[in-house]
Amino acid sequence: MYGNIREYLKKELDNIISAGLYKEERIITSPQDSVIETSEGKEVINFCANNYLGLSSHPALIKAAEQGLKTHGYGMSSVRFICGTTDLHKTLEKKISEFFGTENTILYAACFDANGGVFEPLLTEDDAIISDSLNHASIIDGVRLSKARRYRYENANMNDLEIKLKEAQAQRFRIIVTDGVFSMDGNVAPVNRICALAEKYDSLVMVDECHSAGVVGKTGRGVTEHFNIRGQVDIITGTLGKAFGGAIGGFTTGRKEIIEMLRQRSRPYLFSNSLPPMIASAGIKMFDMMTETNALQKKLYDNTEYFKEKIIKAGFNIKQTQSAIVAIMLYDARLSQDFAAALLKEGIYVIGFYYPVVPKDQARIRVQISAAHTLDHLKKAIDAFIKIGKSLKVI
Ligand SMILES: *Cc1c(COP(=O)(O)O)cnc(C)c1O
Repeated sequence: MYGNIREYLKKELDNIISAGLYKEERIITSPQDSVIETSEGKEVINFCANNYLGLSSHPALIKAAEQGLKTHGYGMSSVRFICGTTDLHKTLEKKISEFFGTENTILYAACFDANGGVFEPLLTEDDAIISDSLNHASIIDGVRLSKARRYRYENANMNDLEIKLKEAQAQRFRIIVTDGVFSMDGNVAPVNRICALAEKYDSLVMVDECHSAGVVGKTGRGVTEHFNIRGQVDIITGTLGKAFGGAIGGFTTGRKEIIEMLRQRSRPYLFSNSLPPMIASAGIKMFDMMTETNALQKKLYDNTEYFKEKIIKAGFNIKQTQSAIVAIMLYDARLSQDFAAALLKEGIYVIGFYYPVVPKDQARIRVQISAAHTLDHLKKAIDAFIKIGKSLKVI
C-alpha cells in the first residue's frame, strides 16, 4: 500500500527542505549558450554550464545533427550488438581514438554508463581498485558494481596513494582511477606522478576526462597532453555532454583488449540503447573541428586567465586551478547562497556550493568559463563580483 511509504517520503522531503538542501531547477527558455533566457523572463550571462568550448548551440553541430537525422533517421531502437550500430557510430569511435591517441573506443549513452560498466567486466575479487577520494559519483558506483577489493586515497595525495598501492600488492591486478580535473576545485590530478607510481607498483591507470578533455592541454587532448604522457594511461573515460558539444553520450577509450572485452561484457553497453545517429553525426563533426584548429582552446585559456587575474586582483581567494573552473572561496554556506542570489539580480548566473557537496566551511561560488564568453561578459561578471563582494563585506 502506497500510504506508508508516502508518509515516509513526505517526511524525508520535508527534512531535505528544512536542511536547506532541496534542489530547485531554473527553467531555461532559450538554447544553452553564454547568454540564456529563463522562465523568470530575464536574460543572464551563464557561468554555470559545462559548455567550455561554447559548442552547445554551435551552428556547425546543429547542421551535422540535422544531416545525421536526414540520412540515418531519429532512433536506433536497439542496442549496439543487435542492430544498433551504424557507420556513424563506428566513425565516431575511430575519431575519438585518433583524438586521444588510443587503440580503440567504445561508446555509451553517457559517461555515467561508461564508468558504471568499466570495472565489473575487467576485475574480480582477486583484484584491487585504488580510487581518489574526490572521484565522481559514477566512478564510485562503478567500483561498487565490481567485486574487486577497494582502496581509497586522499585527493591527489601521492604519499597516500603509495601506501595504498603497497597494501594492494596482495591482489592480482591493480588499477588506479582518478578524475582528470576535479570539478569543485578545478585542479588537475597529478597523472604524471600517478603513472610513475603505477609503473613502480605494477598497476593500470584510468582517468575520467569529463572536465579535462577539450579543455586541458594545449590542443585540448586532456591530462595526458598536459603532462606529455600520451599512451601511458590505459583507460580514459569521457563525455560528449560537456566541452564536446554538451548533448549526450559517453565513451571509454584505451588499450585494444580492454575495449574489446567491454564490448563483450559491459552491461550498460549490452543492455542499453544505442546513441541516436544525429548525436554520432554531430560528434564526428565536433572531433573534425577539434583537429582542424585549436582556436577555441586558446580563447578558453585566455578567457580563464583574464578572469582569474581580475578576480584575484579584486581581493578574492580562489582555489588553485589549471582548468576552466574557478572556485571563488566564501567559506560560509549562507554567504555563498546570498552571494549567488545577488549576482543573479545583476544578470550573472552562477551556483554557490556548500557542504556536503564541498567540505565543511569550504563554501564557494564555482565559475565555469567558456570560449563563448566575450570580454564584455567577463567584465560584467567581474564588476558584479566586486560590487556584491563589497556590499557583503567579502572584499
Ligand atoms: C559529468 C561527469 C560524468 C558523467 O558524464 P555524463 O556523460 O553526463 O553521464 C562522469 N564523470 C565526471 C568526472 C563528470 O564530471
